[in-house]
Order: sequence, then structure tokens, then C-alpha cells
Amino acid sequence: MKKVVKFGGSSLASAEQFKKAGAIIKADESRVYVIPSAPGKRNSADTKVTDMLLHVYKTASEGKDVTAEIEAIRARYNEIITGLELRNFSLDKDFEEITNRLMTEPERDYTASRGEYLNGKVMAAYLGVAFIDPAEVIFFNDEGKLNRYKTEKTLAARLAECERAVIPGFYGLGKNGKVKTFSRGGSDITGSIVAQAARVDVYENWTDVSGVLVTDPRIVADPEPIKFITYRELRELSYMGASVLHEDAIFPVRQCGIPINLRNTNSPADEGTWIVESTAQKQDHVITGIAGKKDFCTVFVYKAMMNSEIGFCRKVLQAFEENDISVEHVPSGIDTMTVVVHADEFMAKEQQVISAIHRLTSPDSVEIESGLALVAVVGRGMRAVSGTAGKLFSSLAKADINIKMIDQGSSELNIIVGIKNEDFEPAIRAIYNEFITK
Ligand code: ASP
Repeated sequence: MKKVVKFGGSSLASAEQFKKAGAIIKADESRVYVIPSAPGKRNSADTKVTDMLLHVYKTASEGKDVTAEIEAIRARYNEIITGLELRNFSLDKDFEEITNRLMTEPERDYTASRGEYLNGKVMAAYLGVAFIDPAEVIFFNDEGKLNRYKTEKTLAARLAECERAVIPGFYGLGKNGKVKTFSRGGSDITGSIVAQAARVDVYENWTDVSGVLVTDPRIVADPEPIKFITYRELRELSYMGASVLHEDAIFPVRQCGIPINLRNTNSPADEGTWIVESTAQKQDHVITGIAGKKDFCTVFVYKAMMNSEIGFCRKVLQAFEENDISVEHVPSGIDTMTVVVHADEFMAKEQQVISAIHRLTSPDSVEIESGLALVAVVGRGMRAVSGTAGKLFSSLAKADINIKMIDQGSSELNIIVGIKNEDFEPAIRAIYNEFITK
């Protein structure tokens, strides 16, 4: 049994947190490859090291003095190094190089990536294992996307030489030979790539929560964690706003059937959440999770006898495509068609879209409404149980919430309801109480 263990920023924000991560790694022989993030926040008023680095890059590119900012970053690492009692270990040379580079040829990605690089060096020294620089094993292609083939080949060969190793998250080497980072939160992707290349049995992702929660804890106090969730369910929940893992972290492990186990560094005894391809595990509840987003607009198109006009729907959608607006949902009636779009994408171009709809379809009327929120109730269990939709709608009716739109995917994996923005939080609480608390 082999595992990749990735620790998020808050799990490595201080020496105390580092020690917890170290104890977790040492508690299980199979935790062989470790992916650290950069030190995150030690408290809510703190600043992540990655943000400090991005700021020092800005200072350097404006030609200003970086000494004070570099010293503040160095102090973060020194606090960790001293707290871990790592004698004969210093990052002074690395800081010298980073400062030189900032003063001569500041590069955004190189600078941002140093948070993980330095933390990886500390972690490797602390554990007494090999350090692998991702700039030697993770590659991007011309379009700035991960070069999967070259990365897997090089990384697998390198990992085969190391029984245990630390591989910092978040970056690799760009096609131009310079360090390149993934988008923010990208250490999750590194963990997934390493898990795939080494074909490990489990990808453990350690953060400061005990797994994926059924819903947003800012809306429902203390929601239950989810024990098992499939990749597809997670995708639906993430798409609708739940922030769990970096989206691109799913693909590499999913492709080779490696489950992800989300765990809590501050509560290692908790089982956390298993993200899996498929499972026969019995569920505690019919639904798996509830997520949602506010601020959608609906564009309502009416034309008498529209149903008999072949190509009508395509032409309406073309009006959105021409304006580069992605369409979220398209509920339709006999002579009506509604297009749901994100307000922030749509607002600036609304008049162009309306005139395009007129030009393309000659409708009887087009009406726009804003302030719509979408709530998705997701669960593989819905397929086998009848009455889920009924329960959902009656819970909203009891809370006096008017449903403006309903969309049930044919996969029966989710039901999406459109409600007014101001009903968003009460709706999620009503659904949670109906399906989880009862
Ligand atoms: N340190 C990077 C960030 O703050 C990457 C990561 O933590 O995953 O976005």
C-alpha cells in the first residue's frame, strides 16, 4: 500500500502545524510521497506566504526596494525552522537567490512558486527524505497546459528511484524553460499528478476541515461531513459553488481509479471524506450535498407556435454564443424558452443579446429578469428512491419560498431549483433540515 499525502497551507502554517503533519506522515508507513503547499494563514488576520510573494513581485517589478518584504517572508520560515529545531539547516542561500532574481529579472510565477519550494525544502529536511524539484519533473506545453505524457514519464521514473520523497506543490516547468505555476490552489493538482505517476493506492489531501460538508457552514451551522462522494457528484457540487479541491485535481487520479481521501490535520482521527469513482456504501441520507450560487439572469423568449419552428432553440442559443456568453440552463415550454445565464457575464452585453435574438428569431417578446439564485440538490441516491422531488418542493413551500425554475438532469443525479436571491440561504436551510436533520 502506498499513499500520496498533500498538506494545504493552513496545515503547514507554523512549526506547531508542521509537527502535526509530521506525526501524521510517520503514523503510517504507506505515506511515502508528501506534497506541501506554502505556509498559509496562522489566524484569520494573517497573510498566506503565496500572497506575500505575489506582493513582493509587484514591488520588485515597480523597481522598488524589496528588503523589508523579503525579511518578513524569511521570518515566516525561520519561525518554522526554529520551532522544528532543524539544526544545520538554513534557507539563507535560497533567499539570496530569490532576492537577486527579484532585483534583476522579476518573474511572477518563479516568485509565487518559492512558497512551495522553500516549504518543500523544510519538509524534506524535517522528515529526512529526498527533495524533488517539480521544475525537473512536471512540464507544461506551448498552450500553458500540463504536458501529461512527458510529466508522467519523467515523474514516474524519478519517483521509482525514491522510496520516499517530498515534491512541492503548485508549479512545474514552462515550455520556455522558466518556472510556471498552476492557478491558485494548484498544489492539489500536483498531489493528483504524483499519485497518478506513482500509481499509489490512495491520494490523501489534508486540510483544516474533516472532509466535504453536506452544505456551506456559513449558511447551516455545523453541517455533517459527507462520508463517500463520487467524482460526478463532487463535480456537480463544485460547479454549483462548493469549494473542495482544485477542479483540475480530479482528472489525473480519476483516470486511474485512485480514490481521494480528504482529511483534517487538526483532527486526524476523523475518517474524512472519500471521493471515489463508484461505491455501494450505504448512505445515511438520500441526498449527498446541497450547493448553490446567486446572481443569475433569465432571458425569457416568447413566440407563438415556436414549437413548430425547426431550429428555433438553436437560433436563440446562437445569440448567446455570438456574444461569448455561456448558457447555464434552458428550461422551455410550448411557446416559451428561458435561458439562464450568469449575471456578471451577461449584464454588459444584454442589449446586444436581445437584438441578436430579434434578428435571428423574430420573437413576439423577450423579457429579462435578474436576481435569480440556483440551488442544486445532488445525490446518487435519488435514482433509487421516489419522492425526493416532492420532499424538496414541499420543504421550500413550507418555508414560503417560491420556486421560479426547476431542472432535473436526466442522470437523476441532481435537481436544480431557481429561486429569488433573497431566498437563497433560507432555501438551503429548509432543504438541509428536511433531508439531513429529520
Ligand atoms: N500556495 C498556492 C496558493 O495559495 C497553491 C496552493 O496552496 O495550493 O494558491
